[in-house]
Amino acid sequence: MPVRLPFRPRRDAYPPDLWTKCPGCSEMLFNKQLDKTMRVCPHCSHHFRISARTRIEQLIDAGTFVERDADLQPVDSLGFVDSKPYADRLVAAQLSTGLRDAAIWGIGQLDGRRVSICAMDFWFMGGSMGSVVGEKIARAGEAALAERIPLIIVSSSGGARMQEGTYSLMQLAKTMGVVERIKAARIPYISILTDPTTGGTFASFAVVGDVNIAEPNALIRFAGDRVSAGTIGEELPPGYARAEFWVSHGFVDRIVPRAKLRDEIATLLSFLVAPATALEPPPPTGFSPRSFLSALTGALTGEGSGSMGQTANGAPGASTNGNGSLNGNGTSNGTGESSGDGSGAANQGEASRG
Ligand SMILES: [Zn+2]
Repeated sequence: MPVRLPFRPRRDAYPPDLWTKCPGCSEMLFNKQLDKTMRVCPHCSHHFRISARTRIEQLIDAGTFVERDADLQPVDSLGFVDSKPYADRLVAAQLSTGLRDAAIWGIGQLDGRRVSICAMDFWFMGGSMGSVVGEKIARAGEAALAERIPLIIVSSSGGARMQEGTYSLMQLAKTMGVVERIKAARIPYISILTDPTTGGTFASFAVVGDVNIAEPNALIRFAGDRVSAGTIGEELPPGYARAEFWVSHGFVDRIVPRAKLRDEIATLLSFLVAPATALEPPPPTGFSPRSFLSALTGALTGEGSGSMGQTANGAPGASTNGNGSLNGNGTSNGTGESSGDGSGAANQGEASRG
């Protein structure tokens, strides 16, 4: 007769907070162990997605990170409703992640070197880039420019945030405007592409770093397979959307496993050094984004890419203007006016220009 142990109840399922099943090799991984290996599977080296905060902890020297603009939060300026109201989605994402939006930026030290860093968080609405994410990336860039320190952006994003409509597409031009100024000033910019880096992120700042580093097997692409194949009118090669393909075609510079990422960036930053003094300002006509998304926007709105360029040129100045007022806002309260101010300022910049 089998002996029954009444004090040990049978469990049909593993408690979800204790174990994680690896999608790469189907091993059950003990979460505490997984945290020790930086959330990389010890069996098949599958790189799990990690939060923006964990990413910053992994890259930045302990105790040196000072977050900026933590209070900046999105507003539902369009009153957008798909299967759920955007406002409800925001609240749900804020509760589940503890973030105001899908990016964190601040200043910290990486191997003793002061850097401006912005990390995106896929767990907040798929890391989608709305006005706040774009603003944080732009501000990280502005800070890098002002302090003449390297800029590091860690992308983890499904693309533009459709719930913010045109505001989210404007972030492509805004972020690229800052990146262009960083390049003109010869400030080092390292872009880290993690799983996934797609859509508007791919079509703007993520792929124009001085060095583009990807994590192994990261999904990197502009659009889904069917859309991409339909656009170019031919079948895409297998595995085209993975980091390894982009490296073999020179689009991404190197693939670095997570455990070596910090050392790799530190080494790169010992070579990439900003000039000690500011260079001559670049000519204002130097920027003209030709990414296919800006071309697409032009086609959809019936305008040429010239208007995108104008927006981009207006945006960096506007975000500098917005900086002071927004910081003031952030310290007094975080009622959600701030991102409205940001886009308002951008509009003013554009209007005053035109
Ligand atoms: Zn595995």
